[in-house]
Order: sequence, then structure tokens, then C-alpha cells
Amino acid sequence: MSLRIAVIGAGIAGVTSAYELSAEGHQVTVFERRGSVAAEGSFANAGLVVPGLVLAWTPPRAPRLTDGQALAWQWQRWRAGRNKNAGPAHQNLLQLALHSSARLQQLRRRVQLDYEHTEGQLVLLRGPAELAAIQPGLALLQAAGVIHHQLDADQCRTVEPGLNPDAELYGGIRLAQAEIGNCRQFAHLLRLEAQRLGTQFRFHTTVRSVQPGRPVRLTHEYTPPVERSEAASRLTDAGDTEPAPLGIQQEAFDAVIVCAALDSVDLLAPLGLKLPLTAVHGHAITAPLRQLEAYPDLGPRAGVFDHQQQIAISRIGQRVRVAGVAEVGGRTDQFKPASLNALHQVLHQWFPGSIQNGQAQHWKAVLAQLPDGLPVLGASGLPGLWLNLAQGGSHSQAAINWTLACGAAHVLAAQVTGRPSAVDVSGLDISRLA
Ligand SMILES: Cc1cc2nc3c(=O)[nH]c(=O)nc-3n(C[C@H](O)[C@H](O)[C@H](O)COP(=O)(O)OP(=O)(O)OC[C@H]3O[C@@H](n4cnc5c(N)ncnc54)[C@H](O)[C@@H]3O)c2cc1C
Repeated sequence: MSLRIAVIGAGIAGVTSAYELSAEGHQVTVFERRGSVAAEGSFANAGLVVPGLVLAWTPPRAPRLTDGQALAWQWQRWRAGRNKNAGPAHQNLLQLALHSSARLQQLRRRVQLDYEHTEGQLVLLRGPAELAAIQPGLALLQAAGVIHHQLDADQCRTVEPGLNPDAELYGGIRLAQAEIGNCRQFAHLLRLEAQRLGTQFRFHTTVRSVQPGRPVRLTHEYTPPVERSEAASRLTDAGDTEPAPLGIQQEAFDAVIVCAALDSVDLLAPLGLKLPLTAVHGHAITAPLRQLEAYPDLGPRAGVFDHQQQIAISRIGQRVRVAGVAEVGGRTDQFKPASLNALHQVLHQWFPGSIQNGQAQHWKAVLAQLPDGLPVLGASGLPGLWLNLAQGGSHSQAAINWTLACGAAHVLAAQVTGRPSAVDVSGLDISRLA
């Protein structure tokens, strides 16, 4: 039976959900307050789709004294993390990530998506102590059948010939089931596919409230930016698929999927659904790769992850992206020089002189995270209301929704349709937070 379904939010979670639901034959409308897809947390992430990194490899460190908000967050994570990876929910998270990676490959082949993807992820280690510390994590991967290989420093340099020969490199772990890709570009391409399948996109439209029931009632409003130059709107607006009516509107749907990241808290709180999400900012620097004939191997070939610093260096087409540095709270529009310096330093250590510094672009985004590092996926417990807040993230405090997105959307579309899902996602839904 074809259902009328609304999706709130057109980040990677919303776009993949819309695609999968349309592919199931449902009539889907996506509401997004920004002018296009992937305009917020999915804009310039590190691009890692690496199932092997969804679980923490090392036990959580005891909280260090920082400011109050950060300390409270570290404390919550530490408490939740003492049991991390132990329970079946974390095993299910890993299976979901593997399913997601397979689904992404299927979509790539099926609809011929070109999103600057490369394959392979190398986790760099600086010394024997670091290798010893990750043994429990490697045992988990082994048990779950995640293919990985331990490399010495020379082997790492064969995989990534651009690595600084003078860097303090002990060895690395090569993860085979891993790809790096441009998440934003993927979202734009998949949006077109979803549209081809009938999905309607309403941009500059903010959902004000949701009233669960049969049907679910959704209140939304057309909210174009107040001041916008014509040039800016040409750059950022993807174009609506139908004209937007003015003023507050109410529409009825058979089901509503909430993919609004941190803003889901405000939409769900009036319904009695309390999500203890914390805003954690992540940072990224993107710059064109330097092209020097004498040094054909400048920069990474695919994905490199500095395990000690928890910073990713990724090859995205002809650009390099360095991402990481979790900052609890703070403001999205203010960059702390120390955070950006940390990214530059790590890039300089591993791939010195590889980017055109003058053209570097900085990005900071807020992510919604729960202390247990798991996503919230599936039925909300309220009629007609579903959640796809797959912003888990155990490894580096960075969220992993791009890694989980295709699998989470596929599972959710099956659940909404009433079919069994391809993987067991028990323990990942909201009921664990009750
Ligand atoms: C520096 C950095 C590096 C990262 N690297 C990786 C990585 O390598 N691999 C990985 O898997 N993940 C990574 N992540 C995380 C990943 O980018 C995010 O988890 C993911 O993109 C979030 O997707 P989303 O769709 O849940 O949220 P978003 O992309 O933030 O989308 C939510 C959307 O909902 C809209 N919205 C909110 N409220 C409303 C409303 N009321 N009405 C209408 N629209 C609304 C917003 O405008 C937004 O567009 C990284 C993140 C950062 C910051």
C-alpha cells in the first residue's frame, strides 16, 4: 500500500530516507528549512564510510577537567562508555554500518552516482603502546568479520606514498571495507533520483510542530531567508518542486520521519519524547591538492585516520579534507583558532605541503550526540511517527551519520512499509532511553 509520508530535514538522513521510501512506492514530501539538501551537518564532513570505525577501539579515558559543559558531557560518555561495545546494541550498530556500506555500493552501481569516491582507510599509529591499546578493538572487528590488516611503517607508506618520510610512524591498520566520498555531492545526486521516483522537496520550509495520530498532522511554514542577494540564492537554492503556499500550513500524512538532527529535540519534546542529545561541534578544512610534477604522490590517496589525535585526512576528488576536533557546545559561526591549528598541524605532520593553503575553506557544524554513541532509529512509540537520528559516534566523538545513512534509511523504509528489515537494529531505537 502506498503511504503519504513526510520527511523532516534534507541532510543525508532525510535524503536517503526519502529515496528509500519512494523506491518502496510511497508518496514522499521532504520539508527542509534551508535552500537545498545537505546544507548543515552533511555539508563538508570527512567523507568516511568506514564500518570498522563505528565502534570505539580504545576504552574511554576518564574525564579531564575542562569547562562545565564539556566536563558533564565527558562524564556522561565515560559512564556510558564503560560498557561500550559490550552489549548487543553495539554489535547491531556495526552490522548496520556494514549493511549501510553495502547499500551505498548497490546504489552507486544501480543509479551510477559519481560522488568523488575512493576506497580504503588507513589508521595510523605512532608507537607500540598505541597498537597495544587498540587490541580489544581489533578483536571486536575480527569477531564481527570486519576485514583489516596490520601494517608496519613501510607497508603504510606503500599504501599511502604521500606520507611524510620523517613522520613518527610506527604502523597502521588497513580497513578494507571502507570508502571515502563527497557526502554533499552524494546527497544532491540522490535527491535527483528521489525526485525521479516522485519525491517532492519543499525548501525554505520549517516544520513547526508534529501531532502524532492517524493521520499525523504536520504544521509548517514557508521561511525564506530575510535578506538574500540574487547571486547568493542562485548558489544555495536547489529549487522547490512545487510552489510554496505562504503562512502557517497544516498537512496530514500517514507517517512522518524526523531527520532533523539536533532540532529534533524541540520538535519531539512537546510530545513527551525527551532526547538527551548534546551539541558537539566538529571542524573541517578543505583545500585543493598541490599539483607538482616532481612530487606526484602529494597528499592522501584515500582515507587516513590519526588514531591518537582522532583526526581524519581524506582525499575528496582533487581536494584534501582534514576533519575532527570535537568541541562541546560553542557556536557554529565562531572558529577557535586552536581547533583549526590542530587540524593544520596534523595535516602538516603526515602530508606536509600537500595543499594550497591560500584556498583553504573552513567549516564547522553542530552534531547531535547521545552519551552511548548510538543512533536513534525506528518507531518513536507514537502513532505514525518515526525517527532517523543516526548520529551515533563512539570512535572519535565525531558523528557517523554518513556511514550509517544508506543502511538506516533502508531499514527504516522496510519498517514503515511493514516488512522485516535486512539487519537487526534492536537496541538502537528510542525505547532504550525511556
Ligand atoms: C567535521 C565533521 C566531520 C565528519 N565526518 C564524518 C565522516 O567522515 N563520516 C561520517 O559518517 N560522518 C561524519 N560526520 C558526521 C556527519 O556529517 C553527520 O552525522 C551527518 O551528516 C548528519 O546528517 P543528518 O541528516 O542527520 O543531519 P543534517 O545534515 O544536519 O540535516 C538535518 C537537516 O534538518 C533540517 N531541519 C532541522 N530542523 C528542521 C525543521 N524544523 N524544519 C525543516 N528542516 C529542519 C536542517 O536544516 C538540516 O538540513 C562528520 C561531521 C563533522 C562535523
